[in-house]
Amino acid sequence: MKITNKTGLPQAFVQMAQSDYMPTPKRYSATALLKGIREVILERRHGDEIEQDVSDMIWLLFGTAVHSVLEHQTEGETEFKEAFVDMPVGDYTVSGRFDLYDAATETITDYKTCSVWKVIYGDYEDWRKQLLIYATIMNYCGFPVKHGQIVAIMKDHQKTKAKNDSSYPQLPVRTLLFDFKDSDFEEINAFIVERLSEIAAAEKLPDEELPVCTLDERFNSGDKYAVMKKGRKTALRVLDSAEAADEWKEQNGGDYIELRPGEDKKCKDYCSACEFCSYYKEHVKGA
Ligand code: SF4
Repeated sequence: MKITNKTGLPQAFVQMAQSDYMPTPKRYSATALLKGIREVILERRHGDEIEQDVSDMIWLLFGTAVHSVLEHQTEGETEFKEAFVDMPVGDYTVSGRFDLYDAATETITDYKTCSVWKVIYGDYEDWRKQLLIYATIMNYCGFPVKHGQIVAIMKDHQKTKAKNDSSYPQLPVRTLLFDFKDSDFEEINAFIVERLSEIAAAEKLPDEELPVCTLDERFNSGDKYAVMKKGRKTALRVLDSAEAADEWKEQNGGDYIELRPGEDKKCKDYCSACEFCSYYKEHVKGA
């Protein structure tokens, strides 16, 4: 990746943004498996051409800084930290780098920096899956894992909101615990095998034929249908389908239904491979 510094930030920022990471063929990290296949493959194919300005990487640098502080602390007697682990799966290797493992409690921990909205919405499935992949690799390596823990640090938490709204996260940090059952390991093993087989098929395809990232992978919550009343700017109700909106209007009133197209937030703002993606060029850029 080419790092630019268009706003002239001090050199320390540029150095922090630079990474000597080079993808290895047939080796995919837990986080790569959880991204869209198109995104992962385009990132690998065009890694040398992708350009990113250091000013757009500030929150990434913030996350790195938090990790850096925490990884310098001394671990307890039964803990070890910041380890790279991997596991062969057919012709491929799945790798992971977790933040802390405690052999006494058989718990794997990862530190995350996130928006407060992640906690308000409570959608932790991606984090649960990531921990489960780490746990699977650790089990394979002979270190049993039965629990996962995320320590989430909310970078945009507002103390005043917490004081005035009891449903708002009361503290800027939250610990989430997951217990892993045999059925969870069966589920994640099946996911890993299927994902790698999809990646193997996609690796043979040209860029424009790669499977387009799913709605979830594009951070798109789908089209919404707003029941509107003439003379009123806000919707009476917003629903997920035209049928549900129609039914609600019949029962509760309203004059017409407005389609609110879902937005591909990932493509628009968070995908480093977007300039090499035909879907982005056709459907998002300039839309
Ligand atoms: S721009 Fe969107 S569809 Fe294209 S690779 Fe990125 S996330 Fe996927």
